[in-house]
Amino acid sequence: MLDPEFLKILRCPFDPKREAPLSQPDETRLACECCKVHFPVRDGFPILLVDEAVLPEGCTSAEQLPCHNRSA
Ligand SMILES: [Zn+2]
Repeated sequence: MLDPEFLKILRCPFDPKREAPLSQPDETRLACECCKVHFPVRDGFPILLVDEAVLPEGCTSAEQLPCHNRSA
């Protein structure tokens, strides 16, 4: 698992304000606590790229994500 101190500074890349925190539900992924998108963790490195994001069930476009819509 990632160092909790490191995890604390990571933010969801969909959030323009960079406020949405991430949690680690298991070894292989991170989850945004706001929009529920998952990001892969490969060899211990979180891949926080919009292109690598796994959208939550029922969500067909990143534009529907709560994080995406946080922009002022
Ligand atoms: Zn998010």
